[in-house]
Amino acid sequence: MSQFQFDLLQQDVTTEARLGRITCRRGQIDTPTFMPVGTLGTVKGMLPEALKEIGAQIILANTYHLFLRPGHELVRQMGGLHKFMNWDRPILTDSGGFQVFSLGDLCKIEEGGVSFQSHLDGSRHLLTPELSIEIQQALGSDIVMVFDECIPHPAEWKYVADSTARSARWAQRCRDVLPAGGETALFGIVQGGMERDLRRQSAEELQEIGFEGYALGGLSVGEEAVVMYEMMEYALPLLPQDQPRYVMGVGTPQNLIEGIARGCDMFDCVMPTRNARNGVLFSRFGKLSIKQARYHDDQQPIDPTCNCYVCQNYIRAYLRHLYRSNEILASVLNTHHNLYYYQQLMAGARRSIAENRFDQFRTDFYRDLDTQ
Ligand SMILES: [Zn+2]
Repeated sequence: MSQFQFDLLQQDVTTEARLGRITCRRGQIDTPTFMPVGTLGTVKGMLPEALKEIGAQIILANTYHLFLRPGHELVRQMGGLHKFMNWDRPILTDSGGFQVFSLGDLCKIEEGGVSFQSHLDGSRHLLTPELSIEIQQALGSDIVMVFDECIPHPAEWKYVADSTARSARWAQRCRDVLPAGGETALFGIVQGGMERDLRRQSAEELQEIGFEGYALGGLSVGEEAVVMYEMMEYALPLLPQDQPRYVMGVGTPQNLIEGIARGCDMFDCVMPTRNARNGVLFSRFGKLSIKQARYHDDQQPIDPTCNCYVCQNYIRAYLRHLYRSNEILASVLNTHHNLYYYQQLMAGARRSIAENRFDQFRTDFYRDLDTQ
């Protein structure tokens, strides 16, 4: 009996938005959900308690990084990633494929896998579908992603076709070493670049193999937002209604709202955390850059309508001062607010779907952004 379950609780009437719930051994995840990114086994600047307090039900960790340092065998010896980082809720791990290509040097793709040089010390490694699964299992991941190639954009049709076909063969090898029905869920990743025929083919091949959930990979790789939305609109309905759908590496608050409207259940992105460390803050009324001189004596919170710990206790002038002084607390407070904003956005979307008013929620979201 599988310990991974997805319940589709409600389907919006005017859009493709869905309300759902994932149940896995370490807890429940209400969808649509946003997963904060904890690349190296920490969501930078956030105590696990703070993540829970703002409502994070699942986080993402990166296989490539943890494989290179501290090494998955060490994490396994220390009792797994949950224990290692003091996070007892679900963890989704990516497969390492994306980082191998974006961070690794001298990547060479072969049928067996990808050989690359570590960006840390230049050491040479071969990452295969089987090794990726082994690493993710050693980490103790709750949702494991298949090993694939994230196709660069733009790319020639032939390259996209060959890569997508190879990724499907790799997906089968991942399924072979991590069969269905166990404690750990395995998600397939639909590739195909910006080519509709290849997206369809990929979606069909993956469903023939059979996974506990499906992701769209290779989006938010430099294409225009409208192209990404069109691809979501085309590809998400190709996936099973009764299983979770995840769009990887997306994105801005607008991207999330548009993804939800097209039927996506799960998102992850470094945007709220990375931007926070660069002093860029998200709010209902748009983004603000706390380093700007206009905030030097501003006594307002980041967002007067935000109920987060930061907005309840700190003013913009102080946050600007911390940022300019390069204080650690600047990253801590900025990250807390940004992640709270993302979690609240998703909670609001979920409530609106439950009450059959997601379309109005989306309209209000854009209205508020424009009032900045
Ligand atoms: Zn706030």
